[in-house]
Amino acid sequence: MNFKPNRSYAIKKLEDFIKNGLGDYSKLRNFDFGPKKRGNISCLSPYVTHGVISEVELIKKSLNKYSFVKNEKFIQEIMWRTFWKGWMELRPDVWKDYLLELEKIKYKYKEDQNYQTAINGNTDIECFNEWVSELKENNYLHNHTRMWFASIWIFTLELPWQLGAEFFMQHLYDGDPASNTLGWRWVAGIQTKGKNYLASEWNIKKFTNNRFKNIKLNENALPKKSQKFYSIMKRDFLNHEIIKNKNLLVFENNLSFELSDLIKKKFNKIQLITNKNKNRKIKLSENTMNFKLGLFEDQKKRLEEKSIECEILDISEIEHTIEAYLLYPTVGETLDYIKSKNFSKITFLYRKLDQFSWQYCNKGFFNFKNYIPKIIKEFS
Ligand SMILES: Cc1cc2nc3c(=O)[nH]c(=O)nc-3n(C[C@H](O)[C@H](O)[C@H](O)COP(=O)(O)OP(=O)(O)OC[C@H]3O[C@@H](n4cnc5c(N)ncnc54)[C@H](O)[C@@H]3O)c2cc1C
Repeated sequence: MNFKPNRSYAIKKLEDFIKNGLGDYSKLRNFDFGPKKRGNISCLSPYVTHGVISEVELIKKSLNKYSFVKNEKFIQEIMWRTFWKGWMELRPDVWKDYLLELEKIKYKYKEDQNYQTAINGNTDIECFNEWVSELKENNYLHNHTRMWFASIWIFTLELPWQLGAEFFMQHLYDGDPASNTLGWRWVAGIQTKGKNYLASEWNIKKFTNNRFKNIKLNENALPKKSQKFYSIMKRDFLNHEIIKNKNLLVFENNLSFELSDLIKKKFNKIQLITNKNKNRKIKLSENTMNFKLGLFEDQKKRLEEKSIECEILDISEIEHTIEAYLLYPTVGETLDYIKSKNFSKITFLYRKLDQFSWQYCNKGFFNFKNYIPKIIKEFS
């Protein structure tokens, strides 16, 4: 597996997938044939998470090849990301509570042997150990494997989901506060209350093409419980009219500004803002950090090729910013940092897709799914 940190590589990956993998996606997507055989899925999430390729771009290109009906499963998967994002935006305390709980649990588990055995891939479960190595070396796991991994972590190894979610965030190139936190909550049984995801031996054997043996799991665990209830925050995500030639600050979630809705607006300069580990609660692995920095460099190069003035700055350097527009970084560590600084004259700008879709994220995905054709129509 190889993820080069640049858009031209991502586009080539997308084109190859559309040509060779998309046709059988709905039939084969749940199979994890191993890191050397990933043609049945796109492996584009590291780029979509960073805005290098947008969800709309993915959907449009897939529709150029096949009808909506044939593409429905692929489009639904793409829209899961949008849904999780919107769901979290309407309930930002889920992220806040997650980080608070993590801090306490981390302290308690610092020396825990069971935890150390898990993160070093030394358990008695061969497939789990292999996935730990894959996560650390390739910085990616198949979706089904993420579900099995999280389920084994929580119900067989009996470790707190918060630590598992942190472990994923540290190593995944696509690490995303919404998809990851809510994915782990879902497996644990606190996202859809009372319904947990239990990995089973037959399922792992079937969908890994019998690559693993002796998979002894707790297949009967009860869902985890949480007393917390999150009510929906009313938010409108409106863009104010851009009236002044100010700088636009772009963060790690939007690294294709030249293709964004805002490209025609007049900004002084584009400032690409990195967020290093010293300002993060979850410290990212060296690979993950280097991947992000590579994507920033690539974005700068592409902007310069289009003669758009830009520079890369660390987030600590924006503390003295007086007035600027900020392309909304979404709930996560970057937004937490900005909020902690109490800037007075900054204005968030939102992507059109998010403005339009997040209004449908007040209930579950089953409900959201009904609006997918409407969302696509808006962008076609
Ligand atoms: C416990 C757990 C943690 C996860 N953590 C993350 C995370 O940190 N970041 C992340 O991007 N995804 C996360 N996912 C979702 C999913 O596993 C990945 O997005 C997917 O595996 C990416 O591989 P792909 O690009 O080949 O997907 P494909 O199957 O090719 O799908 C196309 C695109 O749709 C989106 N997508 C597909 N499935 C999902 C999904 N279930 N949720 C959200 N978006 C999806 C991705 O953008 C992906 O690139 C997590 C899932 C679980 C169960």
